Amino acid sequence: MDFRIGHGYDVHALADGLRLVLGGVEIEHTKGCVAHSDGDVAIHAICDAMLGALALGDIGKLFPDSDQRYKGIDSTLLLKEVVEVVASKGYSVGNVDCTIAMQRPKLRPHIDAMRQRLAEVIGIDIDRVSVKATTTEKLGFEGREEGVSTTAVVLLKAL
Ligand code: MG
Repeated sequence: MDFRIGHGYDVHALADGLRLVLGGVEIEHTKGCVAHSDGDVAIHAICDAMLGALALGDIGKLFPDSDQRYKGIDSTLLLKEVVEVVASKGYSVGNVDCTIAMQRPKLRPHIDAMRQRLAEVIGIDIDRVSVKATTTEKLGFEGREEGVSTTAVVLLKAL
């Protein structure tokens, strides 16, 4: 069996009055991610994990933020495109695991909606998609609510 494993990490700054979109789900909050796209830091980390598994660089290379086509783009479209790249290289997604670090709001009530949405976009069962959330105990930029980070790991298997 030919497997590939990949890791991704992304950070976005938070600012007042912006939409907060995580794992393809819009979440009610006073702050949102500053970004060229919709700022979905969870999806960006997952995309980077998939690209990393295939040593294809990162989403900044695939979707440059100098390109106006990606301004405000729904990140699920980027994920869909990355999954197509994965398939074109002869792999399918085995499972995804990610952890979102954010002080506020509580993400627990939104976890299953994110898993569902990500599973739909990737085209795998929900039990192969794990989304976890943690605060950083008020430490660091996440704890000060200046930003949000996500780490992700994916396993790809040869088709
Ligand atoms: Mg990003």
